[in-house]
Amino acid sequence: MLAHSRPLSCRVTGLVDATPDIRIIRLAIVSGGAFRFAAGQYARVSFPGHRPRDYSLANRPGAAELEFHVRHRADGGAGAYAARILRIGDGVRVEGPFGDAWLRTEHDGPILCLAGGSGLAPMKSIVETALASDPQRRIDLYFGGRDEADVYLEGHFRQLETRCCNFRFHVLLSAARGQAAQRRGTVVEGVAADGAGDAGRFAGAKAYAAGPPAMVSAARALFLSLGLPAVDIHTDPFYTEAEAEAEAAVAGGA
Ligand SMILES: Cc1cc2nc3c(=O)[nH]c(=O)nc-3n(C[C@H](O)[C@H](O)[C@H](O)COP(=O)(O)OP(=O)(O)OC[C@H]3O[C@@H](n4cnc5c(N)ncnc54)[C@H](O)[C@@H]3O)c2cc1C
Repeated sequence: MLAHSRPLSCRVTGLVDATPDIRIIRLAIVSGGAFRFAAGQYARVSFPGHRPRDYSLANRPGAAELEFHVRHRADGGAGAYAARILRIGDGVRVEGPFGDAWLRTEHDGPILCLAGGSGLAPMKSIVETALASDPQRRIDLYFGGRDEADVYLEGHFRQLETRCCNFRFHVLLSAARGQAAQRRGTVVEGVAADGAGDAGRFAGAKAYAAGPPAMVSAARALFLSLGLPAVDIHTDPFYTEAEAEAEAAVAGGA
């Protein structure tokens, strides 16, 4: 059963700049916990002096600390605050969990995960949770970035590949700068090419996707074209507040 939403007071215990625009933030729960959620869900996070923003949980349920991957942009907002001003020991309010794109634990078939940028956060939670209960599980995690600098946690997922023989981490770069070994193209193109090369490859899979809304919508269309039923597709478009308001206005006017 999914947990009800509740507020937590947390304290920053870890700050790591994973890429030029993604910071990994770890929080210890000070009060309000323990925090129950399903892998793939998100929380509403309030940094000091900022309105709440939605961020997906990257850790496994039950872990001692909460982990978030926060993308930031030069022109302000909560992400920029988290990247430049937030310090170890600062207080952060977290409310949740929310979201429907959680790991369906009753399904024991293959799993296909697509992540763009910080969309890796909920996919990390899903992959780690599924492999913890079945290290033999067939899981393909496709991660897409623009160039080499956008790739993060690669060592972590390569280690997981060595421990879990049916887990694969695929990296795709849409605008690679160097001659790196990573595959070229968008993450959606990567899955499409692999699906076209092997018709049965994703049969019986449940598919999960998170990241920029355009990528997530292209991923959903691709999953359907690969023959996955809509009930086996679970997605989390990372709308900004402005995009969410625009969507709501369109829906309201429809
Ligand atoms: C369910 C859900 C889960 C999410 N999980 C995550 C997560 O795990 N990690 C994560 O990093 N984000 C996640 N997001 C997105 C995050 O909540 C938004 O990006 C957030 O609103 C950005 O907040 P901000 O305060 O940093 O920027 P805002 O104050 O919203 O924007 C600051 C400036 O940056 C611009 N900007 C913001 N986002 C974008 C963008 N995507 N593209 C172009 N310009 C942009 C704005 O136009 C504005 O000028 C999630 C969103 C949803 C709906």
